[in-house]
Amino acid sequence: MKKIPYGRHTITEQDIEAVVHVLRSDTLTQGPCIAAFEAAFADYVGAPYAVAVTNGTAALHLCALALGVQPGQKVITTPITFAATANCARFVGAEVVFADIDPETYLLDITQVETLLATAPKGTYAAIIPVDFAGRAVDLEAYRQLADAYGCRLIEDACHAPGGFFTDAAGQRQGCGNGQFADASVFSFHPVKHIAAGEGGMITTASRALYEHLRNLRTHGIQQIPEKREQNHGVWYYEMQMLGYNYRMTDIQAALGTSQLTRAGQGLQRRHALARTYQEALAGQAFITHLPSYSEGHAYHLFVAEFKNRDGLIMHLREKGIFAQVHYIPLHLMPYFRDQGGWKAGDLPCAEAYYRGCLSLPLYPALSDTEQQYVIKSVFDFYG
Ligand SMILES: *Cc1c(COP(=O)(O)O)cnc(C)c1O
Repeated sequence: MKKIPYGRHTITEQDIEAVVHVLRSDTLTQGPCIAAFEAAFADYVGAPYAVAVTNGTAALHLCALALGVQPGQKVITTPITFAATANCARFVGAEVVFADIDPETYLLDITQVETLLATAPKGTYAAIIPVDFAGRAVDLEAYRQLADAYGCRLIEDACHAPGGFFTDAAGQRQGCGNGQFADASVFSFHPVKHIAAGEGGMITTASRALYEHLRNLRTHGIQQIPEKREQNHGVWYYEMQMLGYNYRMTDIQAALGTSQLTRAGQGLQRRHALARTYQEALAGQAFITHLPSYSEGHAYHLFVAEFKNRDGLIMHLREKGIFAQVHYIPLHLMPYFRDQGGWKAGDLPCAEAYYRGCLSLPLYPALSDTEQQYVIKSVFDFYG
């Protein structure tokens, strides 16, 4: 029996050819594949602008920087996310304030966020970073209203959710990362995510000014638009106008990402079919302590539920070659954030209760029906 991971990429001959094509070309980086990937990705999520970077973490860092998060200010996010979401605030010297999750959806609880904002002097919080956790789209319209009322920036961590959407108050579908509500949205192309580029990240936005700023920051703070330089000494001239980084994606990665993107819709459909099968198999079972509802706009990066005796189940599944995983260990209990922010057990009860029972079952487009049935049977076998 081959091992079944919780998530994995799919590589086709078309992907391989796209990469080989770059390897045979003159440009391995800063070539034409970057703009092509950015345009295709912007089109896929419905955003006006997209900036490709080295990875999702760099994308978050540049957003915090470009949106002006200052040392000493505070940033609100969820404890149930990958560390990078919170770390971006630390990269720019800001403090991370975790708010608890909604135990129903596992998303950052907006009422908790509002309480934090309402009980602090204006200007305390520089930004809110909600996460489309597991692929479930956050109601960004509601967050936009909060952000505007309290003068905060809104950064959507959409690393789990390309192709996801929520329905706004007017009944319109709003795609994750479409730029309608968030100041900026970030995506990752790590191989466990929907679109694999090896490593890679993307920022989408509707702001032309932010887009230009991000492009400068991505490449050492060197002005990318010749007309916006202060001087011109000749054909060799370039001008560094701010402190930036080398966060450029290579053309090799961009070509792979573009090729993968052509199958993203198909992959999303398969994820939905698998999620529905899990949903039907697990609904109403005595060993399930919580099963979030199926949602049409969910991008199903992960299939998460809460189980009785989760620790026993995870070990049983490993013996069967099934590598189900825990997403995530609450960030406020990580030694770093515990020491840095004075967080302790009991501070965020919903996130901590979720952590005790949560498990992500294998979910990726290449997971076959037979493999999924084996996973389901192994879960049922454990509970007898
Ligand atoms: C993967 C991920 C990131 C970081 O992306 P990298 O490309 O691995 O740097 C950030 N946030 C979330 C929610 C993620 O899942």
